[in-house]
Amino acid sequence: DVPLAEIDPEVAEAIHSEQKRQQNTLEMIASENFVPRAVLEAQGSVLTNKYAEGYPGRRYYGGCEYVDVVESLAIERAKSLFGADHANVQPHSGAQANNAVMHALLTPGDTIMGLSLAHGGHLTHGMRLNVSGKLYNVVAYEVNEETGRVDMEQVRELAVANKPKVIIAGWSAYTRQLDFEAFRAVADEVGAYLWVDMAHFAGLVATGLHPNPVPFADVVSSTVHKTIGGPRSGFILCKEELKKKIDSAVFPGQQGGPLMHVIAAKATAFKIAASADFKDRQKRTLEGAHIIAERLSQSDVAEAGIKVLTGGTDVHLLLVDLVDSELDGKQAEDLLHKAGITVNRNAVPNDPRPPMVTSGLRIGTPALATRGFDAEAFTEVADIIAETLKPGADVAAQHERVTALCEKFPLYNGIEEW
Ligand code: PLP
Repeated sequence: DVPLAEIDPEVAEAIHSEQKRQQNTLEMIASENFVPRAVLEAQGSVLTNKYAEGYPGRRYYGGCEYVDVVESLAIERAKSLFGADHANVQPHSGAQANNAVMHALLTPGDTIMGLSLAHGGHLTHGMRLNVSGKLYNVVAYEVNEETGRVDMEQVRELAVANKPKVIIAGWSAYTRQLDFEAFRAVADEVGAYLWVDMAHFAGLVATGLHPNPVPFADVVSSTVHKTIGGPRSGFILCKEELKKKIDSAVFPGQQGGPLMHVIAAKATAFKIAASADFKDRQKRTLEGAHIIAERLSQSDVAEAGIKVLTGGTDVHLLLVDLVDSELDGKQAEDLLHKAGITVNRNAVPNDPRPPMVTSGLRIGTPALATRGFDAEAFTEVADIIAETLKPGADVAAQHERVTALCEKFPLYNGIEEW
């Protein structure tokens, strides 16, 4: 029973420093969030000790009576939150969930069609070096050059020409809603499965602030740690007919023992996601992204060639377009880092700069909304970002404004140290 700080001071110190970093900076990486204390407790629990290969009521190990309760709760809550026939809550991560979906629906050599990574897709949707790109024949669709949006006529033409077995609708860097009904129609026309990866926008779906893909898709995969704000992990929803295929693709197809402590934390996160407070948080998330996109578009950074891709956003993130700016993605990311704001550089469609530099920034609001940021605070954030990216910016002055916001919205208040 020796505490971490005594048994391993180096790791304890790094965790402590990370907690301070999270408290003292503005976290605006669109895929990140802060889990509530209850989720930290569930995830740090003795459930990490338990082997539970199999599914509730059908385990390959003894002593599973309590972890069965936990996993059944997670399954039922996920089903009810999204209106799904079936949920598998065992994937260790979003990528594991996606591998399992492909394993369930495809045979190596089959054709898949997803949004190109360079246009906002995820690497598990067929990137060359990912297992999805190595095992399957990939046909990638892109966003329309003029509108910056997914064009369903282009998707249809590509699908008709290539007859994919699976069409993937989902993204990691895109700021508009996809038309799931139109994707369903294309899938039906070419006899493909429709798989929606809602990893990014699941929290918005859970609260009715984004269209729900579940009624249209054969399979929906997701992470739990982005807009849902739960533990780092994944889950899969599917129609009743695919239940056996999906379950068997996760276990024994992909994984051994499920992470029962993480599944407990998922159950808690799904419970929280059904609350009124959570809906308020998702509303502030959307409002924050909208305010930042609008103020950046109207600010004088436009004169320095800094624009907002597609002119705005319908989701929890915006993409800053630096193609016409002297500032590249790496420099802009570094400048904001110096001001105390954490974002990631991101390629924009048809990016002229190399992938390690890029001509874009992805800026997300979920973590700040969890911290309690409201319209006024997001307006201040927007102005700090604009001031920091301006030529000849006084970055130190912006850092002071960031510190004031961090003090105003404390994080993990009352939790001294983990
Ligand atoms: N799918 C999408 C759309 C994502 O954006 C991500 C993560 O960024 C993933 C899947 C993979 O999730 P993980 O990092 O948990 O493997």
